[in-house]
Amino acid sequence: MIVEIISVGTEILLGNIVNTNAAYLAEKCAALGLSCYYQDVVGDNEERLLGVIKMALSRADILLLSGGLGPTQDDLTKEAAAKALGRNLYLHEPSKEMIASFFQKRGLEITENNWKQAMMPEGCIVVDNPNGTAPGVIIEDNGKHVVLMPGPPNEMIPMFENAIMPYLNELQPGIIYSQTVKICGVGESKAESMVEDLINAQDNPTIATYAKTGEVHLRVTARAEDEKEAKKLVKPVVKELKGRFGNNIYTTQEDVTLEKAVVDLLLANHLTVSTVESCTGGMLAARLINVSGVSEVFKTGYITYSNKSKHKILGIKKALLEKKGAVSPEVAKEMAKGAALFAKADVAIGITGIAGPEGGSEEKPVGLVYIACSVRGRVDVKEYHFSGNRMKVRESSVSAALSLMRESILAYYSEVTFGEKK
Ligand code: ATP
Ligand code: MG
Repeated sequence: MIVEIISVGTEILLGNIVNTNAAYLAEKCAALGLSCYYQDVVGDNEERLLGVIKMALSRADILLLSGGLGPTQDDLTKEAAAKALGRNLYLHEPSKEMIASFFQKRGLEITENNWKQAMMPEGCIVVDNPNGTAPGVIIEDNGKHVVLMPGPPNEMIPMFENAIMPYLNELQPGIIYSQTVKICGVGESKAESMVEDLINAQDNPTIATYAKTGEVHLRVTARAEDEKEAKKLVKPVVKELKGRFGNNIYTTQEDVTLEKAVVDLLLANHLTVSTVESCTGGMLAARLINVSGVSEVFKTGYITYSNKSKHKILGIKKALLEKKGAVSPEVAKEMAKGAALFAKADVAIGITGIAGPEGGSEEKPVGLVYIACSVRGRVDVKEYHFSGNRMKVRESSVSAALSLMRESILAYYSEVTFGEKK
């Protein structure tokens, strides 16, 4: 079935708020096996809203609208949807009572315009909103399904999860099941080209790619009569992906993050770890420490931002810092070695780079980062060129460091090149 996402609100059009609802809904629809061909943003204007709804009705089976269900004059979504489908609005008594009790419980005075939220299109399904006063609305009309949800994400998301998602799932035969294959150490475009043939030929299951900072997630989704059947469809595709991406797959479990996979790898091999960071200023240590149970493996995190501290804390020779510069493969290596030595850690990782926006040169541009990883004296060092602003460069560096750490540990144990088969 085809879905169209319509975000209502002049604030979104003007860029005052970011349209996170659309991103959320799009991802959920993909997971539900619904195809989204268009997303619209429209301001709080009844005529234009009506036009968008009519257009969406002509090309989609399901319309998901968010925003404009509030009590004020510029909240027009219900009115426009009712008009588009030729329905009148009537006062829905249970909603009126719910609104009255919502205000009473909070000791707030009710104003006349609040009753507007209890006006419902004839023949609709009214959806509970436990987090606000605007109920959601589902209108079924000639095989089309028009869903209206409140704009605030803290109201829309629970409503979608508790009521709308089960409703949409029911519209399609069978159940859907999906598994995510999480990949690190392979760029987004390379990963996509590695599965292009599968994506082009896909039907059931489908493969969707999601690029995250330093990672790519491939979600394999199948629809079948029951879970057993769906899993049977997903399994060979995941197997194919495992064959293509090898060790670059760090997990196929939904709740495992890259840092968790790294910590698990350290735990499984009884390895302790130390970090030494320059441009990332502790972000790598913070991500590792996000994982509960890390205390078993994490020893010391150093932030050596200045050359002086690199010398004083890690014993890196002043001459080397001067000759090669702080941002160099040689210094990255010495950072990792120093951290391993002083923290007495099996694994140590050093990051040094130019996060920008200042400080770049032709020879060493902004985004140039060296990361070294030492595993019991076996040291890997890699050069990276990241793009984006200061924060993005730093976040990319942290993801790359986690990736390199996995790679180095696996290489230490197997002594084969990462990603290649024995
Ligand atoms: P209210 O009763 O609060 O008026 P509403 O359903 O009428 O709710 P809007 O008035 O359109 O919704 O938006 C209210 C607030 O919800 C916005 O100020 C914004 O903070 C948030 N919001 C609305 N639409 C979106 C969206 N597409 N993405 C993220 N946030 C949104
Ligand atoms: Mg509003």
